[in-house]
Amino acid sequence: MRPEILFPLFAPSASLKGVGPKLAPTLERLAGPYVRDVLFVSPHSIVHRSRATTAEAREGEAQTFVVAIDKHFPPGRRDLPYRIRTLDEAGFLFLVWFRGAGEHLALRHPPGARRAVSGKVERFRDEITIAHPDYFLPAEQVDEIPSFEAIYPASGDLHARTVRKLALEALARAPELPEWQDAAWIARQRWPGWRAALAAMHAPSTDADLAPSAPARRRLAYDELFAHQLALAQRKAGQKAAAAPSIRSGRLAEAVERALPFRLTGAQVRSLGEVRADLASGQRMSRLLQGDVGAGKTMVAMLAMADAAQAGLQSALMAPTEILARQHFETIAEPLAAQGIKTVLLTGRDRGAPRSEKLAHLASGQAAVAVGTHALFQDDVAFRSLALTVIDEQHRFGVSERKRLTDKGAGAHVLAMSATPIPRTLELTVYGDLDISRLEEKPPGRKPVATRAAPKTRIGEVVERLRAVIAQGAQAFWICPLVAESEDSDLAAAEARAAALRRVLGPEVGLVHGQLKPAEKDAVMAAFAEGRIKLLVATTVVEVGVDVPAASIMVIEQAERFGLAQLHQLRGRVGRGQAESACVLLYDPPLSALAQSRLDILRRTDDGFLIAEKDLELRGGGDPLGLKQSGFPAYRLADPAAHRDLIAVAADDARLLLSRDPDLTSPRGRAVRTLQALFDWRPDGGQAAG
Ligand code: ADP
Ligand code: MG
Repeated sequence: MRPEILFPLFAPSASLKGVGPKLAPTLERLAGPYVRDVLFVSPHSIVHRSRATTAEAREGEAQTFVVAIDKHFPPGRRDLPYRIRTLDEAGFLFLVWFRGAGEHLALRHPPGARRAVSGKVERFRDEITIAHPDYFLPAEQVDEIPSFEAIYPASGDLHARTVRKLALEALARAPELPEWQDAAWIARQRWPGWRAALAAMHAPSTDADLAPSAPARRRLAYDELFAHQLALAQRKAGQKAAAAPSIRSGRLAEAVERALPFRLTGAQVRSLGEVRADLASGQRMSRLLQGDVGAGKTMVAMLAMADAAQAGLQSALMAPTEILARQHFETIAEPLAAQGIKTVLLTGRDRGAPRSEKLAHLASGQAAVAVGTHALFQDDVAFRSLALTVIDEQHRFGVSERKRLTDKGAGAHVLAMSATPIPRTLELTVYGDLDISRLEEKPPGRKPVATRAAPKTRIGEVVERLRAVIAQGAQAFWICPLVAESEDSDLAAAEARAAALRRVLGPEVGLVHGQLKPAEKDAVMAAFAEGRIKLLVATTVVEVGVDVPAASIMVIEQAERFGLAQLHQLRGRVGRGQAESACVLLYDPPLSALAQSRLDILRRTDDGFLIAEKDLELRGGGDPLGLKQSGFPAYRLADPAAHRDLIAVAADDARLLLSRDPDLTSPRGRAVRTLQALFDWRPDGGQAAG
């Protein structure tokens, strides 16, 4: 229930003065459906306007001049601009309007009239020019032109100045709200109250006021981060409150482990210990196992599943693609079968009698482990005693799929696995509702992948080199990015690339892309895995979620277009086997300084967490790692990079509050409910739409 005090902020944004049916949809797209959303739109810069004479005109700056109208130059044709020549004691200033501003200019600004005019100064053919002046007023009103102005985002017909007006009106409608933050903490930070902070955000007078480090900005960011962390903590508490079967580790898992051809790494042992402690606790596990591709996550999951099987309970491992599901099945079915644990593979391709048989095995409990795609969670799939669900690459599943999965295993433990390197500082914002185990250490014997960047002009040499190593038995990936507007043209580019490579390297060049049918895709992948294809051209990351130890070369075209985390994951597909391996980052020159330093990071380190952290530093705010797709929240007031020091504080604060006041009934607790209603975080950690 939304508290009454917030009603004015949850009025439609179209109710703001001056928003008609024409602007309403644009405003909703720019800000959101509510007055609150307009209130949260912040200015991104300040324009300083100096008073100047034409002798002092400075290109690129906003300046204010007092001039006399000299002469009008109406355009000879419709598509030419309307120009007015003005002058002051030092020289001429031309004012220009494109697109038919015509007659009223001529009538309203007769030659000789004195005017104050302000706008961005440009020089056009040696003429000092202002196109579409921001202000064009009688000279007496020059003082009405502000010497600085906050600039708001704009969109189409919705001008920045209109957005500013609307934001200020939204501010006028914002009530004083009870303080929801700890008073001592606010005082120590010297932060303003909530409403005062918003007022300050909308009235910057210096660039420092706009910086994320401004006290008002930090206060508002903290509110948002805190509201989010609180929602995550509540969700986590809810998950934990649910009972789940207590599973003890035993003889079966021990036997499976002993039969492995390698010993677990220290990180695997530690993570498995954490998982086992959760499984034995009697409370439901919600744990994330985080680690680079190839760090050995599947092994940890397999041993946990063996524990469940020993307890007479079932497990399900869900993968985002058919290929990955198949590969998981091939990895775990045999070691488990050797100890009498039956695994079934269930994907969208299973039909008819074989499918019925698998379903029967799951329903009877005869199969203790199921591996599959989301086909596992169709309505007619029934488990006898599902107690553990493992979700691989969990960010690739939507919220509704994850929910369906947890519904099916009501009361089942959940182990999520992810190879998306998230900087630690941001981990709490993405996975604040989960406990985290980290596989920082890779299995021994992995050789570092020699990584180098090369301009596309040297593609010929790269191909020559490929020819040589392929002749010696090596296999390689060639990644074409998805960059064009249309998937079709990307596909065409990949096909052309594959054809060109085939001309040089012969027929052992395969191509996978998103438009192949699953069966076709699998056929190509199988051919690659068996070595019948030597070079695999692929359009997307999705298609290369495979383990082919013989693949030792990774070529990535237009590497500058990929996120660092993505490049790192791609590179992780090679270097699995015994051979020396290499990753070639082809780029379209010239490379910007930023792109250069990004690729440099990749060359220098192989630590996914470090790479993610550096990428964050380099790119700053926004969506630094393409995280929005990974369930990363879209903050409005907090900048996850600039305000990262506040994230952990907010998380601690939220936990502490909940431990003292779980039902939020204390005075602070009640104020915090208003904060939560203001931000509307839903229990799933996402934000309510509309
Ligand atoms: P992830 O799921 O993290 O990508 P996997 O569990 O699939 O990693 O392991 C990747 C590869 O490394 C597999 O071939 C697996 O057999 C192997 N592997 C896993 N753990 C170890 C280990 N401790 N020592 C050696 N090899 C290992
Ligand atoms: Mg894996």
